[in-house]
Amino acid sequence: MVAPIVGVLALQGAFAAHAAILERLGVSTTEIRKDDQLDLVDSLVMPGGESTTMSMLLERSGMLEPLSARIAEGLPVFGTCAGMILLSSEVMDGRPDQRVLGAIDITTRRNGYGRQTESFESDLEITGLDAPFHGVFIRAPIVERLGESVSVLASVDDDAVLCRQANVTVASFHPELADDDRLHSMWLKEIS
Ligand code: GLN
Repeated sequence: MVAPIVGVLALQGAFAAHAAILERLGVSTTEIRKDDQLDLVDSLVMPGGESTTMSMLLERSGMLEPLSARIAEGLPVFGTCAGMILLSSEVMDGRPDQRVLGAIDITTRRNGYGRQTESFESDLEITGLDAPFHGVFIRAPIVERLGESVSVLASVDDDAVLCRQANVTVASFHPELADDDRLHSMWLKEIS
């Protein structure tokens, strides 16, 4: 069997830190910037950054429809922060022309934690991990609505911050900045 390759969407944002963690865990990664590169990968990480810019770049590169189709066919995806917004079914406080992939049945609100708490850190209890995980939140989206088929794996107060629906996992924080590879490792085990 050929070893699986994890794609890291590299249009914009914090893709390099994700790739570094995945490589450290012993998997091969490749940066994805064009639709035909999607055919090379067995799973995909969509990083944090700026969802409005990523939406525009996904449209411009012609990747929006092929990516949406691959995810609907079952491509495992892990989206963090802006990646979570792009994978959601609806975004609030986005730009009017901002597009989403509709891959997980949640509504996100951009920068939803408000001005005072734009960036914060919180130790998270994550289902599947036996010790807390340090969550770094940077202008994070808040989950305003959760569909019935979405499982919540971690919350801050009553707000879901790590969710999964079938092949789609999303986090509103930045696991690639925590100096802790357990969440990436858990995701890789789940999809293998
Ligand atoms: N606020 C950003 C957005 O709307 C997300 C922030 C992040 O990815 N760290 O896309």
